[in-house]
Amino acid sequence: MRNIFILLGPPGAGKGSVAGELSLLIKVPVIASGDLLRENVRNGTPLGLKAKKYMEAGELVPDGIVIEMIGAKVSEPNCSKGFILDGFPRTLAQAEMLDGIRDAEDLFNVFYLKADDDFLIRRLSNRRVCGNCGKIYHLVNLPPAKEGVCDTCGGTLVQRKDDTEEVIKKSLEVYKDLTAPLLKYYEDKGLLHVVAGDISIGYMMDCIKKIMKW
Ligand code: AMP
Repeated sequence: MRNIFILLGPPGAGKGSVAGELSLLIKVPVIASGDLLRENVRNGTPLGLKAKKYMEAGELVPDGIVIEMIGAKVSEPNCSKGFILDGFPRTLAQAEMLDGIRDAEDLFNVFYLKADDDFLIRRLSNRRVCGNCGKIYHLVNLPPAKEGVCDTCGGTLVQRKDDTEEVIKKSLEVYKDLTAPLLKYYEDKGLLHVVAGDISIGYMMDCIKKIMKW
């Protein structure tokens, strides 16, 4: 039996932060499709070379590429007790792939972190990420103790290339076209839980802990 968590929601709704907290709690790894893709771009792999132009424009990387990448990751031994998906699925084809690898006894937790566009644009344009350990900061709500330096590892904080207002607006549009239909897909299966994405991570985790199966 695996515990599979799916975190749905627009960019900036807190999926990455929630995934990190959940992973500490239930001790299964986070698989963040965006992080895996960025790693491939950084390392100049063939997959990264194909994905780069889509990512920089705030568009989705084609299903074939992402499905193969995630399929390989979830079959690694460290995922035998389950995994937390952050940023996958983002299309119906990706959701169908997950249904295909799901066993009858697996626990399936689907959470939708909901927030409106103005809030997301404000949050994302103030987001900074540690270039070393990946910890996420917010310049106003969650600033580091020392400007530009990660509290945890001392790494340098950077702004993601796609955290500019233009790219954020594009990826919100893409989200509405391609990813929002997934809400109905999981709702129809009776699996969807909705949680506010515009509250603190602590409150979000309190809500999630009350509902989740584990
Ligand atoms: P994220 O870090 O989740 O915001 O993802 C950053 C970018 O990676 C997105 O804007 C997409 O270009 C790409 N990406 C991440 N996950 C997926 C996915 N499941 N399907 C297609 N593209 C993705």
